[in-house]
Amino acid sequence: MLISLIVPCYNEEESLPILYAALCDVRSQVSDKEFEFIFVNDGSRDKTSSVIKDIASKDKDVRYIIFSRNFGKEAAMFAGLQKAAGDYIAILDADMQDPPSLIPSMIESLDKDEADIIAARRVTRKGEPPIRSFFARSFYKLINKMCDVEIADGARDFRLMKRCVVDAIIALDERQRFSKGIFAWVGFRTKWVEHENVERVAGETKWSFWKLFRYAIDGIVAFTTAPLRFATYCGFGFASAAFIYMVYYFIRAVILRIYDQVPGYPSLLCILLFIGGLILMALGLLGEYIGRIFIEVKRRPQYIVAEEEKREN
Ligand code: UDP
Ligand code: MG
Repeated sequence: MLISLIVPCYNEEESLPILYAALCDVRSQVSDKEFEFIFVNDGSRDKTSSVIKDIASKDKDVRYIIFSRNFGKEAAMFAGLQKAAGDYIAILDADMQDPPSLIPSMIESLDKDEADIIAARRVTRKGEPPIRSFFARSFYKLINKMCDVEIADGARDFRLMKRCVVDAIIALDERQRFSKGIFAWVGFRTKWVEHENVERVAGETKWSFWKLFRYAIDGIVAFTTAPLRFATYCGFGFASAAFIYMVYYFIRAVILRIYDQVPGYPSLLCILLFIGGLILMALGLLGEYIGRIFIEVKRRPQYIVAEEEKREN
């Protein structure tokens, strides 16, 4: 039985040797199974690719893909999943934040057929800026309210999956990938293992606040059309309010004959600005979806491979 471990790497020259050592430990612990380590170099600007090639030259279980530029972690994970030949397949970060030490017990659980997916989840966000945790939590609350599939808070991309799950994931070849949603969408029996937040061993996080914010918008737009409905509701609400207001003024002026002494300039301006803002917001929402359609319609590949390891067979 073959187990594939996929590692997306972007500027990870310092973490990779540490991770590789940990993966070798896992391999020797689970001696009754074969392993392949797939490193996907996502257009790193440091020496990551030579570190990977160096490891690969000494270890026949190591395979790699080198992208022609940075295509993002989603593309790197997808490339790895497509390449993986294993019966069980795991994705883990290069920075040791996804503890490789959990893998042997995950393999055991799959062997016992306790589930089809063993997924890790952080129970703490220790060591993370509080503002980031706050926005992350709010994001999960929001997306779970709006979507049909449940996306667990604290769920990482770290998971061990059976072949059938990975086949289902690869079959979804949409361009704007939001893996956390895709993992939930394909279904199957999931068992969660919990662990404390671990800080990365070396290098620094590639996710700035804005990158995460954009990722959150991507996730929402990719998995639900609820925001479009929100625009409709708003429009409906305001139109009704305007109608009631009109009736009220009609009665006041025509029947009760009360006339305003003050021209009512400020209120008009406020309403104008407010409605204008709402229209712009609704247009922006539409734009998000139309943009997505544009990108999907172009059918561009999700990544371009510059180099791959040579297979002997
Ligand atoms: N990563 C990647 N491409 C990118 C950004 C990140 O392949 O454009 C990889 C990175 O090398 C790491 C994993 O994705 O293995 C998670 O990245 P990071 O640790 O920076 O994210 P965080 O753990 O802070 O969410
Ligand atoms: Mg990390």
